[in-house]
Amino acid sequence: MSLEKIWLSSPHMGGKELDFIHSAFDENWIAPLGPNVIGFEKDLEKYLGDRHVAALSSGTAALHLSLVLAGVERDDFVLCQSMTFSASANPITYLGAKPIFVDSEPETWNICPLALKQAIDFAIANHKKPKAVIVVHLYGMPAKIQEIKTLCDSYNITLIEDAAEALGSSYAKQACGTFGDFGILSFNGNKIITTSGGGALVCKDKATKERSIFLATQARDAAPHYQHSEIGYNYRLSNIAAGIGRGQMLVLDEHIAARRKMNEFYRELFKDAGGVEVFKEPTEEYYSNHWLSAILIDPTKTKRNWDKEELRLALEKENIESRPLWKPMHLQPVFKDAPFVGKTVASDLFANGLCLPSGSNLTDADKLRIAAVIKKFL
Ligand SMILES: *Cc1c(COP(=O)(O)O)cnc(C)c1O
Repeated sequence: MSLEKIWLSSPHMGGKELDFIHSAFDENWIAPLGPNVIGFEKDLEKYLGDRHVAALSSGTAALHLSLVLAGVERDDFVLCQSMTFSASANPITYLGAKPIFVDSEPETWNICPLALKQAIDFAIANHKKPKAVIVVHLYGMPAKIQEIKTLCDSYNITLIEDAAEALGSSYAKQACGTFGDFGILSFNGNKIITTSGGGALVCKDKATKERSIFLATQARDAAPHYQHSEIGYNYRLSNIAAGIGRGQMLVLDEHIAARRKMNEFYRELFKDAGGVEVFKEPTEEYYSNHWLSAILIDPTKTKRNWDKEELRLALEKENIESRPLWKPMHLQPVFKDAPFVGKTVASDLFANGLCLPSGSNLTDADKLRIAAVIKKFL
């Protein structure tokens, strides 16, 4: 008998999602608009506070629209955290703009403010002030967002916060996704809440939200016939998917509590293991949803010098999923020609980091299984 697979992060329904889907069917709102879309946006606005939210078909779509709204055009520079998922960077190239990748700092694993300043100055020295900065709150950990915001303000550069992994995280009690000119959320299947697929653009004012919805619905001018003065996109969220989102919002805080418990679980599990550090908040101002818990291994200090790949294989043998950290964009074949500013923080994290099962739906039995495999390995 083989044991059931334990995933890094899998969908976790709260129970009320189907009710919202049923009402969509009852009212025949089977469309990329409707009461669930409006309701889901209201829920997110209430949760984040002081922001206007447009529900979209994916986090990637939200990033793409944020760049369009920032006025990014062909051959513009956009600075982007290198240590991230490719979806943070791909939309830069959709517009023919050029990414410049920036290294991380070791405390939050996110964009390093010092390297960011160097990158801005590098772009300016090349006769082009960057149009936008994309900062990511990786694995739910808030970036050094205050410093980054101050820097962007001083140069008057649009700040885009990729909070796809950080719904419910905050810095100094302010929600991630609400610091920048734009925030991005994702509700993909593996995120802290899911709509099966979906995303949102967080805007500072109502006019920007309305403009993003205009662009997301094919940029149709006000006329009885179909008239277009601009290029649009088909990026709105479906009313069915938004129904799942409304149900998920009811359990978001429970999901965060469970994920934070998983982080404590790993801290306890690894506390006597030499050469292993569980990723945690650097100070009390940082509040992470701990979307994924990750460890950093120093193989020169572990017993028998075990490394991340050895542990990954030991877990895989027992049908437990784990995964190396995001491979930095400046090391990806597809971005080999893009400039990179920084040192080796991101590449060292990639070399020695491992994400562990972190889902809010892991049972006590799952945890016992994980603990047994890891204890035996150690
Ligand atoms: C998931 C993710 C995205 C993309 O979101 P989708 O909804 O899958 O398009 C973007 N950035 C980061 C950091 C992500 O983890």
